[in-house]
Amino acid sequence: MITFDRVTKKFGEITALHEFTLTITRGELFGLVGPNGAGKTTAIRLACGILHPTSGKIIIDGQDIEKNPSQVKKKIGYLPEEPNLYTRPTARELLEYFADLYGKGRERIDELFELVGLSERADTPISTFSKGMRQRLALARSIVHDPEIMVFDEPTMGLDPATSVKVRDFIASLKKEEKTIILCTHYMEEADMLSDRIGFLNSGRIVSVGTPLELKNTLKKDNIYEIIFTEPVDTSGIAAHILSREKNGITATLSPQLVEMVLQEYGKKVFSIRSLTPTLTDVFLKVTE
Ligand code: ATP
Repeated sequence: MITFDRVTKKFGEITALHEFTLTITRGELFGLVGPNGAGKTTAIRLACGILHPTSGKIIIDGQDIEKNPSQVKKKIGYLPEEPNLYTRPTARELLEYFADLYGKGRERIDELFELVGLSERADTPISTFSKGMRQRLALARSIVHDPEIMVFDEPTMGLDPATSVKVRDFIASLKKEEKTIILCTHYMEEADMLSDRIGFLNSGRIVSVGTPLELKNTLKKDNIYEIIFTEPVDTSGIAAHILSREKNGITATLSPQLVEMVLQEYGKKVFSIRSLTPTLTDVFLKVTE
């Protein structure tokens, strides 16, 4: 279990996290999402003991990370957003080096290569690897010691669709092993697909937490509509309800009364109107506006 207890992190004048309070239970995959600069990486680097809180506490399995840093860190595997790998050794040499560093994991190296789809390249130097292969190797490196807690910062960033699917399948398979996972991602479908619960961060504060379904259901009281106009129109009258704009169209959360009003006001210029099921992207736009 990971508990952030009113954690504040300041970098000089910047407050990257403000009284951040959250509990992630054992075996849960928690998705952390939010706009650029929201504080996601700061939160997970604090949980990994790489950064120290300005105030507040982080408790992992009953232990304060500040008081028992080395003991707690052994439980954690961290995939940073931009992993740096030594490129001279082979992939196998690198994993062996990290397994030895943690004192465990050598016996699972072949299995890990299989899981991340690198078995055939295991004995070639990392310098010959493509970006996607390096990302998958970094993922294997972060968990070679079979940690109980895994923290992945943008694990599929910059990967081709097929490789992304492999990495997501791999993360999904970790869920079956009851690992506690924090996943930071900008891909809403990824967060939706993998997360048990999702927390939205905005300007250093948690603004919404729930299962993907709960979060999407919060938008259900007002239905989401896509309205396409025959020509550009002034929609300032319903600006507060608009989630996104296209050249000749808008996506907006509208009550039945507002749909009526739109049809009355813009009737002749409405090319089409259709109801959309809320997505996590709609929730993102709503809670971070
Ligand atoms: P992104 O989605 O762009 O990766 P993020 O949600 O991970 O963003 P953080 O990297 O946690 O955001 O940054 C939160 C805030 O803290 C930002 O304003 C950032 O500029 C600031 N910040 C982060 N690290 C440092 C640092 N080492 N020194 C100064 N400011 C920092």
